[in-house]
Amino acid sequence: MSLISAIKNIFSAKRASDSSPHADIGNTEPICPYCDAAIDKMPGRKKKCPSCGEFIYVRTRPSDKKKILIREDQISAVEEQWAIANGTHEQFLAIREAYEKEKDVLRNKFGSDPSENDIRWSILNKELLKHAQKFQWGFYRNARLAMGDILKKESKDLEALDTYMEVCYLDVNGPNNCCTRDPEILRDYPPFDPKMAFVAPGVIGYIDNIIGNYRLTQEQVEQRFIKVAERIHKSLKLPVVPERAWKILKKEIYKTQET
Ligand SMILES: [Zn+2]
Repeated sequence: MSLISAIKNIFSAKRASDSSPHADIGNTEPICPYCDAAIDKMPGRKKKCPSCGEFIYVRTRPSDKKKILIREDQISAVEEQWAIANGTHEQFLAIREAYEKEKDVLRNKFGSDPSENDIRWSILNKELLKHAQKFQWGFYRNARLAMGDILKKESKDLEALDTYMEVCYLDVNGPNNCCTRDPEILRDYPPFDPKMAFVAPGVIGYIDNIIGNYRLTQEQVEQRFIKVAERIHKSLKLPVVPERAWKILKKEIYKTQET
């Protein structure tokens, strides 16, 4: 055996033993992870167990890439395994720590356990402030998008719509992560640069869905957008005025609905 292959063996053996304690997480057979009842076939996505009524979650196991069925309380463990596999374990632990800290703060404030969405919302609010102070407008935009997703999850569709339209308005203005407020640098690298504008098709898709579900007319959508955009325009002093931004977005929003 050559020295190199010997070293390779040592490393691969170490990797195998690293992952072995968790390697057996989840069921690879169609069996409920709560009550062990057999299910007729492997579900493709989250499903209620017909026997015990609990939600079964479907994931891919990083150690062998097998599809597994897990309980709700195992989701975080699988996510952690993926973070280890992807080399982002430290980030994962930092995010989890921030999450637990925020959970404690909110529990003390409300006197009861906060929901997952309450915790994430509160963290995002703090991030918004931090990104705005550091002139990281790309990250700021991403945090607003994540807030829109929380509102959508909570079925606050019209609030989600307004938040998604705000994200589009930011996108039309081309948000940059400057990470500085030095005017010398900002002259060459402005916080918002409409030449760098990119409207994400995914966000337009969410907007289209909500407009369709609520049968909003184009006038109603325009009014909502202008109202949202004027507020942001005033506070962030964005280069593209709301009326001009609407002309650009209108094309994107109604392009897909005409077919
Ligand atoms: Zn069950």
